[in-house]
Amino acid sequence: MLIVTEATCREIIDRSAAFKAVESVFAAMARGDAYNFPVVREAIGHADALYGFKSGFDRSQLVLGLKSGGYWPGNEKRGLTNHQSTVFLFDADTGRPSAMVGGNYLTAMRTAAASAVSIRHLARKDARVLGIVGAGFQSAFQLRAAVEQRGFEKIVGWNLHPEMLARLEETAADIGLPFEAVELDRLGAEADVIITITSSFAPTLMREHVRPGTHLACMGTDTKGKQEVDAALVAAATLFTDEVAQAISIGESQHAFSEGLIGEDAVTPLGAVITGEHPGRTSDDEITLFDGTGVGLQDLAVAAAAVELARQKGMAAEVEV
Ligand code: NAD
Repeated sequence: MLIVTEATCREIIDRSAAFKAVESVFAAMARGDAYNFPVVREAIGHADALYGFKSGFDRSQLVLGLKSGGYWPGNEKRGLTNHQSTVFLFDADTGRPSAMVGGNYLTAMRTAAASAVSIRHLARKDARVLGIVGAGFQSAFQLRAAVEQRGFEKIVGWNLHPEMLARLEETAADIGLPFEAVELDRLGAEADVIITITSSFAPTLMREHVRPGTHLACMGTDTKGKQEVDAALVAAATLFTDEVAQAISIGESQHAFSEGLIGEDAVTPLGAVITGEHPGRTSDDEITLFDGTGVGLQDLAVAAAAVELARQKGMAAEVEV
């Protein structure tokens, strides 16, 4: 079995490798070649932790495995990140473990890659202003991946906790783009593409904030009860997702779905746009919304890419199991 550490993942997986892995596994899911297994997530009654695993199988690449981990709120005091995850891959022919891969950095990279894939396939070609709602750990990864997809000239940002916006400002400066902190109505009025990446349980971005032609990538809502945008905005948009079953149960679409504003058939897998089966955006006035819930196959795809690169570069440790 090969071991690929967090530090090695940081060294070998760049945005382009993550993008390629995620785009290709979304297409495999749409073709029916890859599928996710039911997610397990439990409060373990110790250390206030939430623990679970996401797993799946990509038959086209013979990638089989799981991401295990969760949320340990006390970790920060110990100098560790609260979100912890590790990916395990198995030989699809024998069931033998083939690799253990650090999953923390890869989670941020695959999440940012998912919204970048949605921007590549759904945003207007002339998009120039990128809006970000949220300024936590994931937001900087989102910003860096998104700006590579269109000729963005400016970033506008809003966050419930304005003191955190320095993260977006510093990241934009590092990329060489101007950044402005704005109120939500200005963000909606100026942005051609909006990414939401918060842990909110109530909508902040409303239908009236967003103008025709906008592409939204809603990335923060990955649990029942969370919500970043108004259900009326979801209902007004052409909806895409990583996985429809997750979108209507734990994703941003859950509220519009439970309120009866949309049916399950209103949500299209982004993979169907990638394979050409669905046209995606069909007019410059359409609001498109990608509901990124986060699926295990994304984790397995980037982890498999990390193992392959680490093997080629002699950076994977081998152990007998
Ligand atoms: P973080 O804790 O670093 O930042 C949290 C962000 O949410 C900050 O911007 C904070 O100001 C904001 N926030 C907190 N409470 C809020 C509230 N009540 N209303 C509005 N905003 C609020 O978290 P992070 O690591 O950046 O993750 C952000 C979100 O993305 C989380 O909900 C996380 O679960 C989710 N996430 C999703 C995926 C996916 O695949 N879709 C992957 C990783 C993380």
